Amino acid sequence: MNFLMAVFKKETKKYSIFYLKCPRCHEGEMFETGSWSFVKPFNMHQRCPKCDLDYFPEPGYYYGAMFISYIWTGWFCLLFVAIFHWILGWSQEWAFGLLIAFLAVNFVYIFRISRLMWINVNVRYDKDAIAKHQQPTP
Ligand SMILES: [Zn+2]
Repeated sequence: MNFLMAVFKKETKKYSIFYLKCPRCHEGEMFETGSWSFVKPFNMHQRCPKCDLDYFPEPGYYYGAMFISYIWTGWFCLLFVAIFHWILGWSQEWAFGLLIAFLAVNFVYIFRISRLMWINVNVRYDKDAIAKHQQPTP
């Protein structure tokens, strides 16, 4: 975890994506349960608990996340099998077996970071987001 902390600095989109944090304030959680949790895996908060960003700006907003997920997991699977089969010399059966096991374990996380990638296309980090939200509206 410390290694990841060093790689993905706060205030970068990668931080928001891989830690499943709100894309605007990088503090609030997007999902109700832990990153790899199989309990309520797809339940998202309606708004950011910290800065009140609306996570569902329009109906079907996350439809696009499906395409993002499809594209990057496709490339990921190809690379994964290529590395194990051609570079490490595993048989195809074992390389695919490991891939399937890996995807089964990380399925929820993959679904979630795809949504984070999608919302991060549209929402920018704002370091004052929480302060703005806490100010009483006149
Ligand atoms: Zn937020």
